Amino acid sequence: MNAEKRYEIFSRLRDDNPNPTTELNYSSPFELLIAVLLSAQATDVGVNKATDKLYPVANTPQAIYDLGVDGLKEYIKTIGLFNSKAENTIKTCRILLDKHNGEVPQNRKDLEALPGVGRKTANVVLNTAFGQPTIAVDTHIFRVSNRTGIAKGKNVDEVEQKLLRHVPKEFKLDIHHWLILHGRYTCVARKPRCGSCIIEDLCEFKEKTEI
Ligand code: SF4
Repeated sequence: MNAEKRYEIFSRLRDDNPNPTTELNYSSPFELLIAVLLSAQATDVGVNKATDKLYPVANTPQAIYDLGVDGLKEYIKTIGLFNSKAENTIKTCRILLDKHNGEVPQNRKDLEALPGVGRKTANVVLNTAFGQPTIAVDTHIFRVSNRTGIAKGKNVDEVEQKLLRHVPKEFKLDIHHWLILHGRYTCVARKPRCGSCIIEDLCEFKEKTEI
């Protein structure tokens, strides 16, 4: 795909949704970090249901640490992989308290050193909580990037590197959310809704649908 086409795609996504953001509920970097940590292999809606009950009771590293693993599980037991997520969350809170004065670090190295936090989670936190132009590639972004031809790659790392190279600076901060939302609601996994897609004429996918 050439640069002009990419530019037009990003412009249309921006016009359609000038201020995109995550669908996870949060009101601080710490709340976002924990929500993203809980969201692996779970839906944002499911995570929000749990954190809507958890955060009014405990929304700081100390308060969640004080709940303990079993106490935390009571709030997140409806979310997949909740056992390991509870353990990782408590360990993460301990490290934030011991090494970061209870604050969420604003750099990749320290974020990725937290239990349960990988590159994708770090990218989301750096981007959404701290306004850094990182691009977290999840299953939606991977699919949309490959189908459209914006950034083809065999794995998420390859797609991330291509996006970082090809997305113009003015779109970098928000591209993560535009592509996720596009993949979640239009370019869905089973049967993309090409007939109602705002970038249909620019997309290079060969098996477009009419719906
Ligand atoms: S035209 Fe179809 S395949 Fe291409 S981005 Fe839109 S929904 Fe996805």
